[in-house]
Amino acid sequence: MKPIRVAVAGANGRMGREVVKMLVQDETFEFVRGISRTQGGKDVGESIGLGSLGVTFSDSLESALLENRPDVLVDFTIPAAVKRHAEIALEMGVRPVVGTTGLAEGEIAELARLSEERRVGAVIAPNFAIGAVLMMMFAARAAKYFPHVEIIEMHHDRKLDAPSGTSLKTAEMIARNRPEIRQGHPEEKETLEGARGGYRHGFRIHSIRLPGMVAHQEVIFGGPGQTLTLRHDSIHRESFMPGVKLAIQKVMNLDRLVYGLEHLLEE
Ligand code: NAP
Repeated sequence: MKPIRVAVAGANGRMGREVVKMLVQDETFEFVRGISRTQGGKDVGESIGLGSLGVTFSDSLESALLENRPDVLVDFTIPAAVKRHAEIALEMGVRPVVGTTGLAEGEIAELARLSEERRVGAVIAPNFAIGAVLMMMFAARAAKYFPHVEIIEMHHDRKLDAPSGTSLKTAEMIARNRPEIRQGHPEEKETLEGARGGYRHGFRIHSIRLPGMVAHQEVIFGGPGQTLTLRHDSIHRESFMPGVKLAIQKVMNLDRLVYGLEHLLEE
């Protein structure tokens, strides 16, 4: 089997470096190019502490895709850049696997349309950690019996978007199973703005940003006389790599966009 050719946008970032490390250790993949606005021309391996890889950074996504013809583009960049990156990839017949969070619902829908139009597969997953995906699936199941719920998500303080993509995706999955109810006291008043967190799908999401954290989430359900807490912790970025690997393999056989790793897991 020919290895899957993969380029990585944001290869010099925290997640991008982890992806490059995973790709070069796995012979089913060929890491063909890193994209970085700041490291153009440098050897990727030397820049990220892996020793020379003979693969350089490109400072232009278009040129990298034209010159290296990857099968897949993995993107871990920033919310402001990711949509354009995915569009460029789809237009050039390269399958995007997107980990960058912060895409709006409408933007995901536009990418889904483009992917379908071009018949080029794509995966967008706000969380590639299998444990986190299971936590989301369990939360969706619990919501049927425990409609009173709040989410607390905790991340490192370099994260740009709040609330996290994972919490929004969890809220969406819960909402599909949760009976419509009015939650909390009808006369509740916030005396400190933001104290009750953000409101989505009829319940609250709270975001914590602190150094020392990676990516953590608690989904707390409450019912008469009991609470149920589901918690997932990513304590190292390697936790995301089995999911990224699975998405790269699965996207090769897709001809549309899949949003959420849960759709790629075997039952
Ligand atoms: P990071 O360390 O800041 O890396 C982001 C990289 O994006 C930077 O190295 C930067 O590289 C590049 N970049 C910045 N601005 C850019 C622009 N305007 N155009 C193109 N590239 C740009 O961030 P991170 O911690 O790796 O996180 C990256 C993204 O992944 C975030 O959205 C985060 O929420 C998400 N994330 C997702 C998962 C998941 O499982 N889906 C897990 C963890 C994190 P250059 O300066 O070299 O260009």
